[in-house]
Amino acid sequence: MVKSTLKIGCIADDFTGATDLANNLVRAGMRVVQTIGVPAAPLDTEADAVVVALKSRTLPAAEAIAQSLAALAWLQAQGAQQIYFKYCSTFDSTAAGNIGPVAEALMDALGTDFTIATPAFPDNQRTVFKGYLFVGDVLLSESGMRDHPLTPMRDANLVRVLQAQTRRKVGLIDHAVVAQGAAAITDRIASLRAEGVGLAVVDAVSNADLLRLGPALKAMPLVTAGSGVAIGLPANFGVAASDTASVLPAAQGLQAVVSGSCSLATNRQVQHFIASGRPARAIDPLQLAAYGDKAVADVLAWARPLLRDGPVLVYSTADAGAIQAVQGRLGAAEAGALVEHHLAAIARGLVAECGVRQLVVAGGETSGACVQALGVAQLKIGAQIDPGVPWCWAQSPAADNAGLHLTLKSGNFGTHDFFTKAFARL
Ligand code: ADP
Repeated sequence: MVKSTLKIGCIADDFTGATDLANNLVRAGMRVVQTIGVPAAPLDTEADAVVVALKSRTLPAAEAIAQSLAALAWLQAQGAQQIYFKYCSTFDSTAAGNIGPVAEALMDALGTDFTIATPAFPDNQRTVFKGYLFVGDVLLSESGMRDHPLTPMRDANLVRVLQAQTRRKVGLIDHAVVAQGAAAITDRIASLRAEGVGLAVVDAVSNADLLRLGPALKAMPLVTAGSGVAIGLPANFGVAASDTASVLPAAQGLQAVVSGSCSLATNRQVQHFIASGRPARAIDPLQLAAYGDKAVADVLAWARPLLRDGPVLVYSTADAGAIQAVQGRLGAAEAGALVEHHLAAIARGLVAECGVRQLVVAGGETSGACVQALGVAQLKIGAQIDPGVPWCWAQSPAADNAGLHLTLKSGNFGTHDFFTKAFARL
């Protein structure tokens, strides 16, 4: 049991987002464990923070609430002193939720009448000013998120967006207050509460703003945010940044990359890996539809002799035109599920049959499928490779229950040389 050490209990609404939050807590000095879903048993290792990774972002609100409350109950049973509800730094949600409904349900369960909401993550160019969210140099509503297939974000005013999702009154702690520091933020919170505000969007355009916000959140039972706010919380518990929090067991075994992300960043990373002369094998979804398991066996036979000389890449990553052609033939959901299933089988085979013990996975959904196929229940979070992407360590039945180093890269994260750089960082 970790009752004596657990400080922050986190609930993340998606999988690579959970790793992103864990990464920021580790960088601020906390020992962090990420669980895949709500564990059935008590935590069996010492940690300052636990991140429960859910896949609740686009579920019907009632289901997202039920899962989040189950996570809360488990975290409370482990002794968590503060709860952190983590969502995307682009505030990904539909008109119906789930950020508002889940935040409200957690407030009710915790018996608290006030919390904050801010997706600011300046290290990845997500900033909030006057309640408006910017992605790089443009408003959220003018960014690529405008046309997201599941959660299109067409309004950058977060006070308005959140107010449409909750019965509680939404207010703003604007930058003029944040710039004055923690005492001014605390005063502003008191006056917002007196006005009956239940949730306040907080401006932050820099890490300095987030570090000023941190002390003002010290006694708050619930914080809701992207991953950025996490950099200012560990100090409230007397935890200071140190290199020891991110120490993982020594890396061993062979190295591979499995990529199912089709983002612009991942396309560039695949091209860079190929240009660097490393072996790479493309997966054609139409061939998977025809050959299935035989295609998996072929890839493993190709990889086995090459792995001895360094990392190999297996990828379905393609550009928009190629994806459209495949989706036209197979259907979008069917193509996605087919590719995920086979990439997960390949990841499992690389570990179980080929001796890979250092695995990079690119893509949020792809990561979920691979971690499931590897039977991973829990990840220990190590050092950052790029903002939002740390190395992790897990036990997996596919690796004879011995250790496996994993990194789960969400689509748009990472520099162009990520697939080669990652192994050098271990
Ligand atoms: P990201 O983090 O970039 O969004 P995901 O893994 O979450 O990446 O999503 C990518 C989706 O696209 C997955 O469902 C994956 O199976 C699917 N996919 C990958 N390659 C192809 C392809 N060549 N054609 C069609 N769908 C693909």
